[in-house]
Amino acid sequence: MGEKMTMGGDGLVVPDQPIIPFIEGDGIGPDIWAAAVRVFDAAVDKAYGGSRSVDWLEVLAGQKAFDATGDWLPEATIEAFRQHLVGIKGPLTTPIGGGFRSLNVAIRQILDLYVCLRPVRWYEGVPSPVKHPELVDMVIFRENTEDVYAGLELASGTEEAAKLIDFVKAEFGWNVRADSGLGLKPISETGSKRLVRAALRYAVANGRKSLTLVHKGNIMKFTEGAFREWGYEVVRDEFDDVAVGWEDCGGDPGDRILVKDVIADAFLQQILTRPAEYDVVATMNLNGDYASDALAAQVGGIGIAPGGNINYDTGVAVFEATHGTAPKYAGMDKVNPGSVILSGANMFRYIGWSEAADVIEAGLEATILDRVVTYDFARLMEDADEVSTSVFGSAIIERM
Ligand code: NAP
Repeated sequence: MGEKMTMGGDGLVVPDQPIIPFIEGDGIGPDIWAAAVRVFDAAVDKAYGGSRSVDWLEVLAGQKAFDATGDWLPEATIEAFRQHLVGIKGPLTTPIGGGFRSLNVAIRQILDLYVCLRPVRWYEGVPSPVKHPELVDMVIFRENTEDVYAGLELASGTEEAAKLIDFVKAEFGWNVRADSGLGLKPISETGSKRLVRAALRYAVANGRKSLTLVHKGNIMKFTEGAFREWGYEVVRDEFDDVAVGWEDCGGDPGDRILVKDVIADAFLQQILTRPAEYDVVATMNLNGDYASDALAAQVGGIGIAPGGNINYDTGVAVFEATHGTAPKYAGMDKVNPGSVILSGANMFRYIGWSEAADVIEAGLEATILDRVVTYDFARLMEDADEVSTSVFGSAIIERM
């Protein structure tokens, strides 16, 4: 029988047989989950020789939840994540007219999972569009709850939009074209600082060399510019012993972590031209969305990019495949399960089971190096041995 993880003063307390809730996901979800869970169990067994195991608990969301309960995101599912703290999910269909902008966004917002963690590195053998994918080794901390993703939008032509347009004209003298749609971009000191704090703690714990704040503060001074200021404030006020801002050290941090910042558009250029200069990255929601997918593409990893959504204060975290439900491939045992598998590896790292994570990553890398891959990689590689989702999972286990 499994036990619940709990949050102690020093972070997560993880029993040897933790209960971990999972959402299988819609579309290709069942295919990739079936392969992934075998990989997870094999890796834990390999790493701990039977002294640790996971008690998987299925919880419902998306189409499967709707069919069974009439609810796209049952309260019981949210409660399971709250109770058990750490879980994992496959991709979910976004219900049209179901009252949700996106189930993924809803899960992040309800559980206040304020960090979207996207580690980006290259695995040897993965086909990449750039010459030196091995120079990319970054960990993106994307703020998950604010910015233009907060969902505070009014459609063009509505009474509400007209009201707001009149209000800003009357109060601030702002001229907004009458037929505009409007959105609010909240960036708070609270939201910015807790994100940067989490990124710095991660950098310290993982022996990382630098943290870069990515922003567009030259244009959006009081939102993105303020994010930059608050970021440096956290460094000065709370991490002075282990980190230092560029301006406070003239670019020479000694043995501390160097904290620097870069304008978002320059960042998107430099991750192509000088990727080795970036390490841990902290940024707001929209920048983070663009940057993490651009980086994933660079290492050939769109199909295998892992992700996690974390609240480091409550401990609650939901790791997830970063791709969608690819409905045209559902049930075909065809697609790449790499994204949910590597998300699981990150989940194991998060709960302190890094040996299991290492086993998974090594097994995956060895499989790709042997050119045993699913169709998406096979079409980009010469002499690949194209296999199904399930066979790819077995191939990873054989190489652990
Ligand atoms: P998608 O499901 O990610 O699929 C787009 C394409 O990406 C697929 O046709 C396929 O490319 C490739 N792909 C995705 N997953 C793959 C995998 N595991 N292995 C290999 N190739 C993979 O995006 P979409 O078609 O825009 O969205 C479909 C549904 O997913 C929508 O309902 C959307 O709302 C939802 N969605 C959910 C999430 C989430 O739950 N996190 C994220 C994004 C979208 P090829 O056709 O070239 O083979």
